[in-house]
Amino acid sequence: MIHLKTKEEIELLRENNQLVSLTLAEVGKHIRPGVTTRELDAVAEEFIRSHGAVPGFLGYNGFPASLCISVNEGVVHGIPSDYVLKQGDIVSVDCGTFMKGFYGDSAYTFAVGEIPADVRQLLEVTKEALYKGVAQAKAGNRIGDISAAVQSTAEAGGFSVVRELVGHGLGRKMHEEPEVPNYGSKGRGPVLKEGMVLCIEPMINMGGRQVVFERDGWTVRTRDRKPSAHYEFAVAVGKEGADVLTDFGVIENAINN
Ligand code: MG
Ligand code: MG
Repeated sequence: MIHLKTKEEIELLRENNQLVSLTLAEVGKHIRPGVTTRELDAVAEEFIRSHGAVPGFLGYNGFPASLCISVNEGVVHGIPSDYVLKQGDIVSVDCGTFMKGFYGDSAYTFAVGEIPADVRQLLEVTKEALYKGVAQAKAGNRIGDISAAVQSTAEAGGFSVVRELVGHGLGRKMHEEPEVPNYGSKGRGPVLKEGMVLCIEPMINMGGRQVVFERDGWTVRTRDRKPSAHYEFAVAVGKEGADVLTDFGVIENAINN
């Protein structure tokens, strides 16, 4: 069943996703060659707790960290480690919070220093696919309208869409109905209603769409080991359009200054 949120509940979800955005901004300030992904995880955990929340991912189905950090061919669900970031890497950071009975969940893919032009293009197209999907999140549309917008944007850019992992509803649980695939057909799937809160999260590969689930039980990577990007917004469906609860502005201000 799909839980519709009240205005008050949407504000609590906004608070959580604002904190996620600020956490991603703080993490972004620390992303540079020489830092380990475990150090980034510690920055996030400290930041989240100091703002009165708990990390939403830590212990979720047994996940061992506060952030999912997926480098280069990592798609999602990477476990922070002693891996040392180097110039030219891309780092997908997925962050969750829990406070006041609700979850936040958003993700951003960062560049480590200068990255190749084709990888820069992957990041830009993936973010564009997210925005095109978000533009469809208005009452009366269907989930498939979001899915089709994401897929067509990614594929028009020459990239491929991961099928095995999808977006989701967000609320008192991290993963609620409905599923929000990044591929599909316009006019299909559940009708969007005011008060639905959705995580729209394209996972887009530079090469083939196939992925491998690693033996650590978590990490998902591309089969061909080409890079993959991931951006995620939490949005509330409104009559006139999406009310975006995540703020990439704070992240981009932090990394561009
Ligand atoms: Mg996420
Ligand atoms: Mg999510």
